[in-house]
Amino acid sequence: MTDYKLFRQGVRDFLALELSPELVRAGELTTSVFSDFEAALKWHKILHNKGWVAPEWPKEYGGTGWDINQRYIFQEECKLANAPSIVMMAIQMLGPMLMHYGTDEQKSFYLPRILSAEDIWCQGYSEPGAGSDLASLKTSAVRDGDDYVVNGTKIWTSMARHSNRIFCLVRTNKEVKPQAGISFLLIDLNSPGITVTDIVSLDGQIEQCQVFFQDVRVPVANVVGNENEGWSVAKYLLEFERGGHNFTIDIKKQLAKLRCQAQSVKARNGKSKLQDPVFRHRLAEAEIEAMALEQTELRIKGTLSSGGNPGALSSLVKCAGTELGQRFNALSVDAVGQAATPYHPDSLNPRYAGKTPAPGYALTAMAEYINNRAATIYGGTAEIQRAIIAKQILKL
Ligand SMILES: Cc1cc2nc3c(=O)[nH]c(=O)nc-3n(C[C@H](O)[C@H](O)[C@H](O)COP(=O)(O)OP(=O)(O)OC[C@H]3O[C@@H](n4cnc5c(N)ncnc54)[C@H](O)[C@@H]3O)c2cc1C
Repeated sequence: MTDYKLFRQGVRDFLALELSPELVRAGELTTSVFSDFEAALKWHKILHNKGWVAPEWPKEYGGTGWDINQRYIFQEECKLANAPSIVMMAIQMLGPMLMHYGTDEQKSFYLPRILSAEDIWCQGYSEPGAGSDLASLKTSAVRDGDDYVVNGTKIWTSMARHSNRIFCLVRTNKEVKPQAGISFLLIDLNSPGITVTDIVSLDGQIEQCQVFFQDVRVPVANVVGNENEGWSVAKYLLEFERGGHNFTIDIKKQLAKLRCQAQSVKARNGKSKLQDPVFRHRLAEAEIEAMALEQTELRIKGTLSSGGNPGALSSLVKCAGTELGQRFNALSVDAVGQAATPYHPDSLNPRYAGKTPAPGYALTAMAEYINNRAATIYGGTAEIQRAIIAKQILKL
């Protein structure tokens, strides 16, 4: 039997040893799913050296061999210790998909490079005009000898500016029904004909990009699965995108931060925001929902550990988790009051050592609030998740 207490202590010891103040700062200042890239890369390499960068992967491919509880404990301890988030697209989604659909050559070439961070991947699914309705995508790949020639554009591509590779859905047949003419292609972002432009978010940060392809030659060997069967590959990968998140861990962290913020702010009567009965009421309501969410996540964990599949429950958790997260963000902004308003992006850079316009506890509140509006859009919008819940859980 695994001694989980001992395991947790081992993780804590490792984090205490390896997380430098700069890395912790990057974790504290993280306002979206992505941390400062430089810090994320450093942390990725430290985890890789320890053999802990891909706990969800099977051991034969470089995973840890931990059970589901150990993986949960690891994630929880990393979050509580303010470790930066690593860029997860390949570890969480592409790697597991390649293990299932990739050729032996693709697996042996790409998987070790994902683990070592030699390759940083981004996800090229969405296009202008093809988001929720992904099957209407238009980026085309036309066969020419041993290559495809790719033309089109992908949008909202997270981390493309830091990536050297992109996994893409492309149209390889226009004559059949939309889903039947899509292929899954691995593309080197340094290929001639690719341009990456930044998209500046509302909070002034750049995480998303648009990627343009003009007559880009991609070897046919880079197709995953069979030509025109990319839709199944894409859907398989999405299961890892939607199912791979533990919202409860994030929310517990948010809650601790919110309590600290609300405790720090004093009204004119000298009382803290945490003593304000209206605020306390809103906080208690959100906390109760967080407890309900935790029970649902534990239910999914139980299903997974007995070999089952969470199915549409992951849509339910995605909806509830992201919407609850947004409520905590709103409470944070409310708690810190006017300290949330100064616009000073430098303060969120872990290497910035100058003056900040707001006290430390307030620095991230507004940026998190703004950035997290996207949580109910990416990975499948809340409306789409509700449609899945209505159909598959409520049988409407
Ligand atoms: C921060 C961020 C990061 C992202 N990162 C990536 C990435 O790395 N790679 C990538 O490929 N994509 C990425 N995306 C894109 C994301 O997947 C899409 O934005 C999302 O799928 C929605 O598509 P859309 O933006 O085209 O909106 P649309 O699909 O046009 O939807 C617009 C609105 O209509 C509603 N709607 C649409 N269809 C229905 C329906 N059938 N029933 C009810 N309501 C509907 C939607 O819920 C939404 O409110 C990212 C998006 C964001 C915001």
